[in-house]
Amino acid sequence: NNTRTRLIAGNWKMNKNYTEGVQLAQDLANELGHDTHGVEVVVCPPATDLKGVSGVIEFDRAPFGLGAQNVYWEASGAFTGELSCDMLKSVGCTHCIVGHSERRDYFGETDGDINLKVKALLAAGIVPISCCGESLEVREAGNQVDFVVGQIRADFDGVELESGDQLVVAYEPIWAIGTGKTATPEDAQEVCGAIRAALVDIFGADIASQIRVLYGGSAKPGNVAGFLAEEDVDGALVGGASLVAADFAAMVERA
Ligand code: PEP
Repeated sequence: NNTRTRLIAGNWKMNKNYTEGVQLAQDLANELGHDTHGVEVVVCPPATDLKGVSGVIEFDRAPFGLGAQNVYWEASGAFTGELSCDMLKSVGCTHCIVGHSERRDYFGETDGDINLKVKALLAAGIVPISCCGESLEVREAGNQVDFVVGQIRADFDGVELESGDQLVVAYEPIWAIGTGKTATPEDAQEVCGAIRAALVDIFGADIASQIRVLYGGSAKPGNVAGFLAEEDVDGALVGGASLVAADFAAMVERA
């Protein structure tokens, strides 16, 4: 129903040391083979695993991608504990998650921070996977669309794109992350459709029609096809199920 290439991205979060991470990447490569059936596949291991994972098949080349989970916007200097875009590129990163709800909630990341990170990544030629999503409280008050559109407008304020391939958006309702509760495909479409409309406003219709919008929140092999059947859902950002090679590969096959 649209021409956007499907994208399945795995967010390993703070799981897998170097040895375990390389092993998981190898297991995934064995499950997938080199054929992803036209689906783009991005894995986002912890920073310490990036270099090792980039050496397994070609996770740093299309149709694969290698993503970090965070970045700092400054180029270099006295920012203890942070990693720059150039550092990520030097180990093969093609993508980077920004604005994950765990970073917003536990590490105080603001929309202003996310905006600077998105701009720095774009300038470095790394594709941001920019996350948004509402809490249970916001959902129960029925304000999910306004809340998420507000995040999108703030996160992409002043951002310029030449093409829609430069940016990925992930809608992740916080109440569905790691909880086993999933949104329904209709819930996902309601917000992903509103995200696309906001992207049309911000970037224009041509570019907005190319931007992939992913659903995330307890996505798994058994439910991924339902989300992907929706007009404005172009893939999934997968947490828990991305740590099991067979499950993640099954989701790529069903995409
Ligand atoms: C995530 O946090 O990006 C996520 C989607 O997690 P899970 O699939 O485990 O809900």
